[in-house]
Amino acid sequence: MKNIHNFCAGPCLLPQSVYEQASQAILDFEQTGMSILSISHRSKEFIAVLEEARSLSLELLGLQHKGYVALFLQGGASMEFLRIPYNLMQQKAGYINTGTWSAKAIEQAQLMGEVSIVASSEDRAYTYIPKEIHVKEPLDYMHFTSNNTIYGTQFNSIPKANAPLVCDMSSDIYSREFAYDQIDLIYAGAQKNIGPAGVSLILIKEEILGNTQRVIPHMMDYQEHINKDSLYHTANVFAVYTCLLNLRWLKQQGGVAAIERVNNQKAALLYQTIDQLDFVQGVAAVEDRSKMNVTFRFTEERMNGVFDQLCTEAHIANVQGHRSVGGYRASLYNAVTLDSVAVLVNVLEQMKTVI
Ligand SMILES: *Cc1c(COP(=O)(O)O)cnc(C)c1O
Repeated sequence: MKNIHNFCAGPCLLPQSVYEQASQAILDFEQTGMSILSISHRSKEFIAVLEEARSLSLELLGLQHKGYVALFLQGGASMEFLRIPYNLMQQKAGYINTGTWSAKAIEQAQLMGEVSIVASSEDRAYTYIPKEIHVKEPLDYMHFTSNNTIYGTQFNSIPKANAPLVCDMSSDIYSREFAYDQIDLIYAGAQKNIGPAGVSLILIKEEILGNTQRVIPHMMDYQEHINKDSLYHTANVFAVYTCLLNLRWLKQQGGVAAIERVNNQKAALLYQTIDQLDFVQGVAAVEDRSKMNVTFRFTEERMNGVFDQLCTEAHIANVQGHRSVGGYRASLYNAVTLDSVAVLVNVLEQMKTVI
């Protein structure tokens, strides 16, 4: 494989060892003589994979033995935008609006009940995180997005409410220590930091379920998925297996605390460079900068072409900003190395001499 420095916002980079083991499993899954693509989701081999993935997903966040259940379901994070209100909305839910993904979650919740926007950063194009949120109004639950993949902002503390907390952690789960056990339902599309696209992880405190009077279709019903041990229907066998490989890799690295130290170094290196160079500007408010998605732009349009060219020469890929924000975005998910960030930093510094 060519040595590309891939900063893709999602689907994310995974460790080389995960690519190799996943490839091997397509040819011969753990010496069964069968491909992982062609075994039953109810085989004892796959059930062992699923159970290890479910338990490791909780263990790595310190959530074991705390009343949480882990589910690997299909439909992506966008499906959870709807499953959550189906299962938790009685009359009114609170949502913090910090960007496109929050807004999409809000839209879906409004199909099931009333949504109170308890805080928003829409007034300044989602470039910051609203602070000191302590919501007193009665709510069925409160929802927030811990990391805003598109704008590059991230919550540093957990907002408070007198209601169960629900968090979309699609783009920063497993990247840092956080008071995960203060959140009652954590969900994430796998493709930002857990594994390949096609599966999402839901970590849910079972006690928050069962309070709505509505009839919930089985596919939308968390309780049904829990009762069936995350095998209500055919699981995404290959994606779950690849998630497991990546979670095992994370454990080998020393877990979330250890990866957070590396992630902090990566982000610090890139942000320091952005701050030092007067022709580059960060998009997000300094105190709310995401350590996973670093958004920036150049002070002059003409510099884009220069940067693009230098990136190509340095084998840097996928640094275009989201189409709604423009500029550039480097995503620094767990598998992105400090070396790759150093190459990107080097390109930015090289621009001093070219422009
Ligand atoms: C990518 C992303 C989503 C959407 O995920 P899908 O799996 O494509 O539905 C939702 N929330 C956040 C924070 C994301 O980064």
